[in-house]
Amino acid sequence: MKISTRTIAVSTRGDCDSVDITPQVADEMGKSGMKNGIAVLFVPGSTAGLTTIEYEPGLLADLPEAFERVAPTDKSYHHDQRWGDGNGHAHIRAALIGPSLTVPFSDGRLLLGTWQQIVLLDFDNRPRQRKIAMQLLGE
Ligand code: ZN
Repeated sequence: MKISTRTIAVSTRGDCDSVDITPQVADEMGKSGMKNGIAVLFVPGSTAGLTTIEYEPGLLADLPEAFERVAPTDKSYHHDQRWGDGNGHAHIRAALIGPSLTVPFSDGRLLLGTWQQIVLLDFDNRPRQRKIAMQLLGE
C-alpha cells in the first residue's frame, strides 16, 4: 500500500461560502499516479467543514438559509462574549458538518454520484485562505 500526502489551496469569501473542490481532488489523485484506494480530506481549522452536495444554484441558496436556522448569526454566543471575534455561529456550524471526508476511488475515478460534488464550506465571518490536507491510501 502506498500513501501520498497532498495539499489543496482554496480562497474563500467566508460567510457560508461553498467551494466545489471536486476538480482539485480529482487532479491531485491523477498526479499521485494511484488508481485504487481512498482519499481522506481534512480541513485544519474550527470554522470550516467538508461535505458533499449537488452543487447547483438552488442548493447554494438553500444551504446558508438552513445554517441560519440551525445556528443564527445574530444570536448571542458564549464564544463571542469570551473572545470577541464574532464567529460563534461559525464554530457551531463547522462542528456539525465536521472537518473530514473520505472518498473511495477505483480505476482512477472518484466514486462520487453523478450529482454529488465535494465542497468546502467556510463559515468564518471573513475571507480565508484554506489549505486542505489530502491523503491518498491505496495503490
Ligand atoms: Zn472564534
